[in-house]
Amino acid sequence: MPIRAYCTICSDFFDNSRDVAAVTCGHTFHQECLLQWFHSAPHRTCPQCRIQVSSRQIINKLFFDIGGEEETVLDPESLKNEVDRIKVSLLAKEKEKRECQGLVDSLREMLDVRNVTIQSLQKELGDMEMLCSTLKKQMKFLDNQKSETKAAKDEARKLRNKLKTMESIEVLLQAQRPEVEEMIRNMGSGQAAVEQLAIYCVSLKKKKKKKKKK
Ligand SMILES: [Zn+2]
Ligand SMILES: [Zn+2]
Repeated sequence: MPIRAYCTICSDFFDNSRDVAAVTCGHTFHQECLLQWFHSAPHRTCPQCRIQVSSRQIINKLFFDIGGEEETVLDPESLKNEVDRIKVSLLAKEKEKRECQGLVDSLREMLDVRNVTIQSLQKELGDMEMLCSTLKKQMKFLDNQKSETKAAKDEARKLRNKLKTMESIEVLLQAQRPEVEEMIRNMGSGQAAVEQLAIYCVSLKKKKKKKKKK
């Protein structure tokens, strides 16, 4: 808002026709009004705030850079035109607003659909996770069973071998020489055969000792 400054001595607005002066307190007056005041007043003081001032402290002329003041002609015709222009612009804005609102509504609907999808996917994910953990438990159980079965199979194999050895020893004990020779020949050669023979020998020795004790 422009400042409508005026001289408090004569109450006229400042304009281009008369010089404006200022005193050190900052108050401004027409230069001639101020000089007149100094001549008539008993003390040299600011007419407005009564602070003591000397004539040397006066700024005699202030310069205002005044912007071009074009008088705006406000005739009824141009005012009506302006109103019409604003009405048209308002209508356009309202249309724009309605369009924006429509867009917002459709986006909101889309968002709702997305939210529903997300919820169902989350539920599915939860179900899948549950299934996964159940399957993991089952797998662990099956793994345990597998290792138990393997242990049992190993045990059974050992027992079978032991039984075979015992049977062979039984045969050895009751057999005649040709049959024993036949058996040893059937064992073949190599490390496995040597080990088998060693087992027979040791077992026979143990049996002999037991018999002696009896
Ligand atoms: Zn004045
Ligand atoms: Zn003053």
